[in-house]
Amino acid sequence: MSLGDFLIEGARELGVIVSDDKLNLFLLYLDNLKKWNEGINLTAIRNDREIVLNHFIDSLSIVPFIENDKSLLDIGSGGGFPGIPLKIVRPALQVTLLDSVNKKVSFMNDTVRKLQLKDIHAVWGRAEDINNKVPRGSFDYVVTRAVGSISDTARLSSPYVSENGAIVLMRGKKGPEEWILAKEEIGCDFELVDSKEFTLPQSDLVRSIFILKPNRSSKS
Ligand code: SAM
Repeated sequence: MSLGDFLIEGARELGVIVSDDKLNLFLLYLDNLKKWNEGINLTAIRNDREIVLNHFIDSLSIVPFIENDKSLLDIGSGGGFPGIPLKIVRPALQVTLLDSVNKKVSFMNDTVRKLQLKDIHAVWGRAEDINNKVPRGSFDYVVTRAVGSISDTARLSSPYVSENGAIVLMRGKKGPEEWILAKEEIGCDFELVDSKEFTLPQSDLVRSIFILKPNRSSKS
C-alpha cells in the first residue's frame, strides 16, 4: 500500500475522509517535518509510515469530538500535533498552537505558511505564564497530546476554556490507569464528560481520549 493510501485508509477507519487535496497537504507537511527535523528535535520517529501513523493518524483520532467552525488551542503542540492535522481536515477551525520552544514555534509557522492554511498560528510561550499572548476563557477546545500528567494538563488547560468549552486529553495505553490517579488529584475540579479507548488503525497501538469540563462551581 502506498503511503498516501495508508493515510487515507487509516483516517477512514477513524471516520475521517482525506481527499486528494488534503492528502497533498499532509505530504507537504511530512516533507517539511523531515527537513526541519534534521536541525531541531521535532520527532524521534524517522520512518515515513510510522510518522503517518503515530503523528498524523493519531492526531485525527479526536476528530469525532471536534466540531468544525470552533476555536481550538493546542498546548505543547511541538511539531504541530494534533493541531495541524486537525486544521487540515477541519478547515473552518480557528487554531492556536502554543509551545515553550521558539524553534518549534518557527517550524509550525513555517508549515502553516507552506500549506497556505488560514486562521491558524503558533505562539511562543508557556501555558502557565500569565503574560503569554494567548487569550483566556475563549477556546471551545483545549487539546494536549504527550505534555504531562492528566491532572497537570487539565489544570494548565482550564484557564483557556470558554464557558461551554471542553478539555481534550490524548493519552496512551496507560490512560485508564492515569485517569484513576488523576481523579484523586483533581477531585471535583473537573467533570469527565466522555472517554474512549481504541487501537490505532492497522497497528496494535492502544490510545485513550478523555474529555473534561472544568467544574466552575468547585471551590477546591
Ligand atoms: N504535542 C506534541 C506531540 O504530541 O507530538 C508534542 C509533545 S512533546 C512531548 C511536549 C511539548 O510540549 C514540547 O514541544 C514542549 O516544548 C511543550 N511544552 C511542555 N510544557 C509546556 C508548557 N508548560 N507550555 C507550553 N508548552 C509546553
